[in-house]
Amino acid sequence: MKPKKIFKEMNDQVKYELESAYLYLQMAAYFHEQGLDGMARWMRVQALEEQHHAMKFFDHLVDRGQPVKLQPLDLKTNTWKSPLAAFEAAYAHEQFISGRIHLLVEVANAEKDHAALPMLHWFLNEQIEEEANTSKIAQQLRQAEKAGGALFMIDRELGTRSFTIPPEVTIVAGAGGAGA
Ligand code: MG
Repeated sequence: MKPKKIFKEMNDQVKYELESAYLYLQMAAYFHEQGLDGMARWMRVQALEEQHHAMKFFDHLVDRGQPVKLQPLDLKTNTWKSPLAAFEAAYAHEQFISGRIHLLVEVANAEKDHAALPMLHWFLNEQIEEEANTSKIAQQLRQAEKAGGALFMIDRELGTRSFTIPPEVTIVAGAGGAGA
């Protein structure tokens, strides 16, 4: 049987999610350089979430007996001209990732791969949230440009973000498989 295109796309998606983590980690470093530790924390949590996204695809491939082939990561940008520019770049990146998820849904449907759909639907919802979060922060930063001191209020607010390891994540346990 011809290998399914959906598995190649999922393998590519492991790379895209890890590239997201890599990008947000670089943004965290940028914010630390600017003395904006709250925004840096937000980006560090975001990077952890992206690793979790990558593992969802990784585990799905493992559970379905498919090879996982890790690929070199690409980081196109390593600095930004302002906090607003960084969050605008994060929003644009999430729009790109949403496009990738939509493509995966189309491929799964075309190949009648019903088994992939529950996970992909989780990602459709997740991407609505990712786009909403990054675009809202960019909007607040745009407003902050008009009000002195507002940048530091946003920084304090974003510094309260925390990450709880989702129960299905197996990175630490190393057991592999969604059911582990
Ligand atoms: Mg993601």
